[in-house]
Amino acid sequence: MTEEIQGFGEAQEADPEALVQALAGWLRHLAELGWRGWDCSESTLRIVDRWKRGQTGGEPPLDALRAELGDCRRCKLHRSRRHIVFGEGNPGADLVFVGEGPGQEEDEQGRPFVGRAGQLLSKIIQAIGRTREDVYICNVVKCRPPGNRVPEPDEVAACAPFLKRQLRAIGPRFLCTLGAVASQYVLGTDAPISALRGKWQTFEGIRVMPTYHPAYLLRHVDLKRQTWNDMKLLMAAMDNSEGGA
Ligand code: URA
Repeated sequence: MTEEIQGFGEAQEADPEALVQALAGWLRHLAELGWRGWDCSESTLRIVDRWKRGQTGGEPPLDALRAELGDCRRCKLHRSRRHIVFGEGNPGADLVFVGEGPGQEEDEQGRPFVGRAGQLLSKIIQAIGRTREDVYICNVVKCRPPGNRVPEPDEVAACAPFLKRQLRAIGPRFLCTLGAVASQYVLGTDAPISALRGKWQTFEGIRVMPTYHPAYLLRHVDLKRQTWNDMKLLMAAMDNSEGGA
């Protein structure tokens, strides 16, 4: 039995951090004994580990990042936006999807990927055995570029540091970058998406699977098969890393 488990009794009297630490020790111990029925999966244990360390990479939690973003006017996109689309989903997600920037529907609702492309993304997420609530979904820029044009370099430079900080706060093991803008930004390359997709890369220790953007798939239905192949690679890697728990 670890010291963390022995400390459980006292921790109940002590501060919340000590309690979480003791709880994490217990969950790990139960997992080692082969107990099931509790959520002792690797992904949950990793989330609890992050609680112990008070979030990853020293980044404030997502709600503090959102507060820091405030009523953002760091680039010209603020002039035409209706809502900032910060991102949504599981703040301890193992898998994060990164798109380009909000479209009209997203701008109206303040939520990522809720238009036609979003419906296709929801189907893709379902097809890999997850829900939108399991994963986290966000974009390179958080305000809609007028007419859905590609975000300009100054807009990306102003906004995307928040994306990186979101990723550090979430601490996922897997990223799926959707389309050229997200893939090129995250991977620091200008290679075309056709060359990037389907090949594992890394970003700050996170495994990255670039694939086509769902909006592009709506116009190029023949590319859905390649996207499905990319998703199979993603699923296999995620299932392997769960260690069967
Ligand atoms: N396209 C994107 O890249 N992001 C969204 O949130 C919606 C559409």
